[in-house]
Amino acid sequence: MKAREMAKVAVIPGDGVGKEVTREAVKALRAVTEGTGFELDLVEWPHGADRYLETGEAITDAEFADLQSNYQAILLGALGDSRVPGNEHARQILLGMRFRLDLYVNFRPVRLFHERLTPLRDKRAEDVNFVIFRENTEGVYVGMGGTFKQGTPDEVAIQEDVNTRKGVERIIRAAFEYARRNGLTRVTMSDKANAMEFAGGLWRRVFKLVSAEYGDIESEALYVDMLAMDMVRRPERYQVIVTGNLFGDILSDLGAQLAGGLGLSPSGNIHPGRIGLFEPVHGSAPDIAGKNLANPFAAILTAGLMMEHLGRPAEAAKLEDAVRACILAGEATTDLGGTLGTQAAGDAIVRRLSVADAP
Ligand code: ATP
Repeated sequence: MKAREMAKVAVIPGDGVGKEVTREAVKALRAVTEGTGFELDLVEWPHGADRYLETGEAITDAEFADLQSNYQAILLGALGDSRVPGNEHARQILLGMRFRLDLYVNFRPVRLFHERLTPLRDKRAEDVNFVIFRENTEGVYVGMGGTFKQGTPDEVAIQEDVNTRKGVERIIRAAFEYARRNGLTRVTMSDKANAMEFAGGLWRRVFKLVSAEYGDIESEALYVDMLAMDMVRRPERYQVIVTGNLFGDILSDLGAQLAGGLGLSPSGNIHPGRIGLFEPVHGSAPDIAGKNLANPFAAILTAGLMMEHLGRPAEAAKLEDAVRACILAGEATTDLGGTLGTQAAGDAIVRRLSVADAP
């Protein structure tokens, strides 16, 4: 998205720790944009379990229309509450946004800030630094299929894997475009073409066609089991990984653990050039909610991805640098071995941002 001087953002703190970490992300966003001339209009939306339980409505058609026409991004904390059976409100809001806003890229950077945060032995921070482009609107998550003779010993369950030429091509192209924009030299496509020949065949054919347009970038196709092993064995090989919905879900959680776990994992749901939805990978974490224990860094890094999407790479870099600096200085929450609470960790980020701005 091209540089702009203002942006309107719907902030949905949501449930559980979502409320606590989003408060810190908003603080960081205000600090990083202050004095830049960039006008960030942060509008808080009350969507979440409380509102759903009160009104019976997760999000309305009119609200979707409002998001689509008037906003450039959505910053979400987390959705999940044991009072709502099956987390129906979360499903309606998150899946609704993903499908109705056609957010076909799930973007998951995997970036290690300090070697002590990875479970991998003998890997340095710079060895774990890649991004995953997960297809977000197709695959086995479209909910097509059915059951037959349910509840009997002869029960059959069918879950369809939907792959369209258009869907495969646009996610692969998004990955190559990202590589080119960021001076990266290799894109790895991952599938299971040896066992799933129809879907894999489409992915491989399209990957080959699209990669031919990016002669300056090396391309390779790897079976997903091979890639999962190799991400642990030699993560330093990888720069950009592109894959389908199911494999991307699994690989990106593996990636999150390689880079320090849930407290440090941001994500973006993007349709390039349109509104994007940005959320930390972790959920509402009811076990620690309301205790000032949640790590706000994933939410702050998520705010950074949002700034990048809004055409503000300088602010995005500052947010990431502030998180890195805090981690190196041991100014962090207990999950990362620090002693700070959620708010104090957010304050530490704001202090770094203010120091960075000092002449
Ligand atoms: P949900 O149902 O909303 O997905 P969950 O508890 O099942 O919530 P997560 O919220 O993703 O799943 O978290 C799993 C565990 O990881 C939590 O119980 C919590 O202990 C830990 N955790 C998650 N997020 C954070 C965070 N920001 N800071 C510290 N610990 C966290």
